[in-house]
Amino acid sequence: MTAVKIDLNRVSMPKQTPDERIYNFDEVAQGYQYDQALIEAKRCLNCPKKPCVEGCPVGVDIPEFIQEIVNEKMEQALAILKDKNSLPAICGRVCPQESQCESKCSLAKKGAPIAIGRLERYVADWELSDVANRRLKVAKESSTGKMVAIVGAGPAGLTVAADLAKLGHTVVLFEALHVAGGVLVYGIPEFRLPKMIVGKEVEYVQSLGVQIRLNSVIGKMLTIDELMEYGFEAVFLGSGAGLPMFLNIPGENLTGIYSANEFLTRVNLMKAYLFPKYLTPLEVGDRVAVIGGGNVAMDSARCALRLGAREVRVIYRRSRAEMPARLEESENAEEEGIIFQFLTNPIAFIGDERDTIKSMKCVEMMLGEPDSSGRARPVVKPNSEFMLDVDTVIVALGTNPNPLIPSTTNGLQTTDRGTVVAESATGLTSRSKIWAGGDLTTGSATVISAMGAGKRAAAAIHAYLSGEKESKQYEVAQVTKE
Ligand code: FAD
Ligand code: SF4
Repeated sequence: MTAVKIDLNRVSMPKQTPDERIYNFDEVAQGYQYDQALIEAKRCLNCPKKPCVEGCPVGVDIPEFIQEIVNEKMEQALAILKDKNSLPAICGRVCPQESQCESKCSLAKKGAPIAIGRLERYVADWELSDVANRRLKVAKESSTGKMVAIVGAGPAGLTVAADLAKLGHTVVLFEALHVAGGVLVYGIPEFRLPKMIVGKEVEYVQSLGVQIRLNSVIGKMLTIDELMEYGFEAVFLGSGAGLPMFLNIPGENLTGIYSANEFLTRVNLMKAYLFPKYLTPLEVGDRVAVIGGGNVAMDSARCALRLGAREVRVIYRRSRAEMPARLEESENAEEEGIIFQFLTNPIAFIGDERDTIKSMKCVEMMLGEPDSSGRARPVVKPNSEFMLDVDTVIVALGTNPNPLIPSTTNGLQTTDRGTVVAESATGLTSRSKIWAGGDLTTGSATVISAMGAGKRAAAAIHAYLSGEKESKQYEVAQVTKE
């Protein structure tokens, strides 16, 4: 028998060139064409043990959907994807597949793993393309008459909403902003995740019967207890972690220093990049420093470049190896000319006579013993102070949850960081009939981890509402906790 020869290289995805893309906000990665998707799908070994599925937090049947691409049965491929993942066009674009499903792929041992994310995006985009009305018809259970309130229309809330609506529950989703999507609309820029894609995925969730109430700040407009008084039998909290962290060093209040949250919200949600069509003010100087090394820092740096900055520098206190940003995104940033200054930390901001930032005092760092996160602890190098001239600073250090909901909900237990305490297997909180998941419980994490938590919570809420055996267990857990 002749052995089948497997191509160890994956099919590359077309991208806008760096010279072209730094002048626009259009999507950088352009997705596979039909032939490219087919060639990549045919590399899949259809492994009986499916190691890739173990790496997927929502358990998508990966080999099955890929085989349907090979069979050229796109509707079936889509149905398999959507059975476990209600937002595949989003996940195909922004999930860190390299550390999840693709890292487990059998082919990774010898060569490049299957490009699972790109194939997921291909199938999801096939549905969203307007060649024909390809909207998948989803089977729904008949109405249970039970009402569930969900707080926050990010990936966690949308996932819970979709899963519970399919199971026949009446789902009302309350969102503080004027548009649904959470970080997907206010944080991640258009050139990585077009808002039209998020809008279509949200429409899909609405098509399942989910009602979305925008401009509804829970904790102000209505408290969680008031929602329950209105007849909601279960509440899911998916309000994310939108409160930015700061360096707490001298000069941080100077004009020209933004939190990444504010900067990206102005650019993406309020469309500052389309000024003057959208009248959102956003001042970006010639020399921009972005403090941090995660996806948020990469997005801020790349937005600043597109908004006309001459020199954009990412300042990170550890080394390249510890940077938490997705590799694809730090590579894209570097291709675009972003400068990376590793092992550096600002210790003071200095302003001019109008209290506008003009420079930063920095120190050089060295890597010491691992800290509690397992990463090498950065320590200050003695006598290493130096000055860096800057016109704009963007602080991208991470976020914590907004305290509004915990402070208006008696008995909702939180940690020192302000995250809501919830059982990891079910999302149940310390309060009866209240579940939580996503960044609200973990601090800033990933889209797919928020969706995974949403799926587990939806299953637990359904079990509770159905009065199945598990619900008793939840009652006991609630009573002991309260
Ligand atoms: P969120 O997405 O934060 O959604 C919470 C929603 O709740 C928001 O819409 C908010 O307005 C609403 N809300 C808050 N308070 C209230 C209230 N009181 N009442 C009603 N509604 C409320 N992850 C990846 O996997 N890949 C990436 O490439 C990536 N890039 C990122 C880039 C940026 C700039 C940022 C900020 C994050 C990025 N992440 C990425 C992380 C990811 O987006 C989050 O982990 C994920 O969105 C968390 O989902 P969530 O549903 O828990 O919360
Ligand atoms: Fe295909 Fe890789 Fe999954 Fe094997 S592990 S089935 S090759 S995607």
